[in-house]
Amino acid sequence: MTERLAVVSGGGSGIGRAIAGRLAEDGCRVVLLGRRAEPLERAAGEIGRLTGPGTALAVPADLTDPGQVEAAAARIRALGPVDVLVNNAGAIITPPADDTLAALADSWRRDLDTNLLTAVLLTSALQGALRRPGGRLVVISSAAAQRGGAGPHSAGSYAAAKAALHGWAFGLARQLGPDGVTVNVLAPGYVADTEIFGAGWTPEFHAGKVADTLVGRAGTPADVAAAVGYLASPDAGYLTGQVIGLNGGAVLGR
Ligand code: NDP
Repeated sequence: MTERLAVVSGGGSGIGRAIAGRLAEDGCRVVLLGRRAEPLERAAGEIGRLTGPGTALAVPADLTDPGQVEAAAARIRALGPVDVLVNNAGAIITPPADDTLAALADSWRRDLDTNLLTAVLLTSALQGALRRPGGRLVVISSAAAQRGGAGPHSAGSYAAAKAALHGWAFGLARQLGPDGVTVNVLAPGYVADTEIFGAGWTPEFHAGKVADTLVGRAGTPADVAAAVGYLASPDAGYLTGQVIGLNGGAVLGR
């Protein structure tokens, strides 16, 4: 079988780093996207040492910027058809700076840009390059999209931006299904050992999230990577248009 090409946004840290490593182990050449060159280069080097030189390529880009997305996509298209595209880049945006509507609008726009537009722009730029049939598109959403967000770690704009990914992905699944391309959304619950909570992470926050689960533990980036490994595989051709919860039972059956 010829080597498959996978693209992972936010591939330099946390969940994206684990997904990129997993897809490389599964025989893909991987392209890692993110704004900061240093973690991307480090991750690409580590993956290359495990799975072979040239297996991983770092392509720095701010995926909220159409010009940077187009430049990155041009580099990727030159590598050949894209077998797997994982839209994983995202962030929890700082809440509004004050209680003015202007600050609220700024915070919401930044959240929608980071958690929704990044996926829309990258997917649109690479849509024509997806392998047909056989392409696999995976979108990383959040359990916040299913149960709403509140508090400093999951403001309403984050939940709304993640939920918007669902409707967008359903439309893409309809559009691309006839070409043999699958589109699925993975909605993780709390996953520890990533950069997303920054200085806001506390042992109490962690304990509360663990207590929400039925299995009594936090999720790991490897848990998410294992699920993506299946969704991205040739075996998963009959699975499309779904939102799959991965949350230790913190959200049931949605
Ligand atoms: P990280 O902060 O470790 O990873 C997020 C990645 O996205 C970073 O590598 C970051 O790189 C990249 N990124 C952010 N903004 C942009 C941008 N504008 N352009 C390009 N890349 C960008 O956190 P996680 O691994 O936890 O998060 C990965 C995904 O999983 C996110 O979408 C998050 O919302 C989602 N998620 C996480 C959960 C958790 O509990 N950890 C739970 C549910 C969902 P850089 O800063 O260099 O741009």
